Amino acid sequence: MSSKTEKVTEKVTEKVTEKVTEKVKVKKVKAEKFGFEAEVSKLLHMMVHSVYSDKEIFLRELISNASDACDKLRYEGQMNADLLKEGGDYKIEITVDDKAGTLTISDNGIGMNKEDLISNLGTIARSGTSKFMEDLGEDSGDTNLIGQFGVGFYSVFMVADKVSVISKKAGEAQAYAWVSDGIGEFTIAEEKTAPRGTSITLTLKKEAAEFLLDHTLRRIIKTYSDHITLPIMLFVPAEPKEGDDTVQEAEKINDGTAIWARQKSDITADQYNEFYRSVGQAIDEPAQTIHYKAEGMTEYSVLMYVPSDAPVDLFDPARRPKVKLYVKRVFITDDCEDLLPGYLRFMRGVVDSEDLPLNISREMLQNNAVMNNMKKAVTNRLLSEFSKLAKKDAEAYNKFWGTFGAVLKEGIYEDFTRRDEILKLARFESTLDKGLVSFDEYISRMKKDGKHIYYITGENAEKVKRSPQLEGFKSKGIEVLFLTDPVDDFWLQMVNQYDDKILQSVTRGSADLDEAEDDKDKKEDNSPEIDALLNILKVNLGTEIKDARLSKRLTTSAVCLVADDGDMDMHMERILKMHKMEEAQNSSRILEINPDNALIKALAKSAVKEGSVEALKDASLLLLDQAKILEGELPEDVTAFTVRLAKIMQSAF
Ligand code: ADP
Repeated sequence: MSSKTEKVTEKVTEKVTEKVTEKVKVKKVKAEKFGFEAEVSKLLHMMVHSVYSDKEIFLRELISNASDACDKLRYEGQMNADLLKEGGDYKIEITVDDKAGTLTISDNGIGMNKEDLISNLGTIARSGTSKFMEDLGEDSGDTNLIGQFGVGFYSVFMVADKVSVISKKAGEAQAYAWVSDGIGEFTIAEEKTAPRGTSITLTLKKEAAEFLLDHTLRRIIKTYSDHITLPIMLFVPAEPKEGDDTVQEAEKINDGTAIWARQKSDITADQYNEFYRSVGQAIDEPAQTIHYKAEGMTEYSVLMYVPSDAPVDLFDPARRPKVKLYVKRVFITDDCEDLLPGYLRFMRGVVDSEDLPLNISREMLQNNAVMNNMKKAVTNRLLSEFSKLAKKDAEAYNKFWGTFGAVLKEGIYEDFTRRDEILKLARFESTLDKGLVSFDEYISRMKKDGKHIYYITGENAEKVKRSPQLEGFKSKGIEVLFLTDPVDDFWLQMVNQYDDKILQSVTRGSADLDEAEDDKDKKEDNSPEIDALLNILKVNLGTEIKDARLSKRLTTSAVCLVADDGDMDMHMERILKMHKMEEAQNSSRILEINPDNALIKALAKSAVKEGSVEALKDASLLLLDQAKILEGELPEDVTAFTVRLAKIMQSAF
């Protein structure tokens, strides 16, 4: 080449480069900037600085998203063939570029348009994760919690400095590129050409270079994603060909059979556990694994897990059961209320039906006979599995009950047909302090011919243990169950009996301990002094109380309050008031006094003296306030209470 030509070529190259640079510039200018939602920023900050040891889960999350995207398209394509114009078998491809230090995960699934990118990769859709982030506060290093909240896509920032997502939505012409370094903002620009689906390129952090290695990627794919039914193709460098060392060959890495469709005997405990983590977006171990195939009228496979730990949003009203519905190995939805009742919302896993049509729409799932049958049968099976566990391993069962019992108990009032079964599964702490007790166990221990199952409701076992109303029961050795979940107050309104035993609150109605104890030495007649004191209390307290009477349930304390037979339980009333519910009442209670208590004895003596009504006015009011305080309530008028107390204390010194 002459030197002249060289120069010309140089110039041309220069020009071309200029043009290219210009183009790049133009393209960059066109890129729109977006800020991440505040909570995402917080989450990303955590990711970027994560010391979480299982960083490799990012790949599981991306593969799972890619697989979902293909399933979504397969599903929507059934109803709208236009979406499938680009054709091609569904697959996931993983490519490594050693030189650039990048890892790319591509799928030919449903893809995302601009709006999808903004909302899916800029906000946190899941209420649980948002709540988790709120609770976490500004500065928490507890990154071990990361996996538990299924942070999904954002986990890429544990391993990448920069992430670019190129996506084209099925049925649309325009592709978009989403780019971010995970700090504060992301950009979106139009992308000239791209195939249908999504391609995610991670520029790996230096310390994450291991994720470029062939054997590492194989191991991760096998460990976490073996069950994914689409082929996961890993591009690995082929035998170097002369003059070209960039040729790569694709190799299918995953086994591709849905784990739930395999024989139990072919599945290892590790494989079950890994699938649980992937399907349940969890980091704990499953507490129970339930895997079976139903054959007969309706055919389906079930692989479900009881988690060991409760998720943070267990009581979030928006939380739905997170079980995935498949039809003949094809994912249909994970947002299906008709698969399990709400009180089993802690379950994770998969139900795969052989009978539903593949093109079933979400609307059709509602009130569908096949779905109803499956829901019924699966619910029955799960409850019977819990009951089996209870018989086989009480310790494991009690742990399960401690974690999810409060949720399961919602079934007592929601699911009339299974009420008795759930009551049988219920466990409670009790005055005997021997760990959790079932109703059956309680009955087996009660006195012969006992008619009542006694219980007390309240905030927690520690608090109710100190309730004065328990004194008589304790001293007579009568067991009382502690019903301390808020949900207890609700189902108790509907359930009066278990077997033929009446459920009786120890803070309501007359406690006939003698009947329960078969103890005939009753103190029937009140002394005249006690009668006088009761009268004085009634006069002095007026409408503040419904009645004043002698207590059979107190042995040491002077007084306590109880609700009348037909009235609402006191704890329930407090809950309703706390939540400002319309049904909240202000029913006046019965004040019970203990004739064996020294203070009551002294007051009773004064009660028969002249002018005692007036003389015992302060004492009457103080007794009532004392009883309220024992209930965990405040005296009506705190100032008046302290003035009265001071006056009485003064007279004593
Ligand atoms: P999750 O998958 O649990 O919903 P992610 O944070 O992983 O949470 O993803 C958020 C959303 O982004 C997904 O629900 C999905 O709508 C979308 N998305 C992520 N990856 C892809 C993909 N490869 N193809 C299409 N959509 C995707």
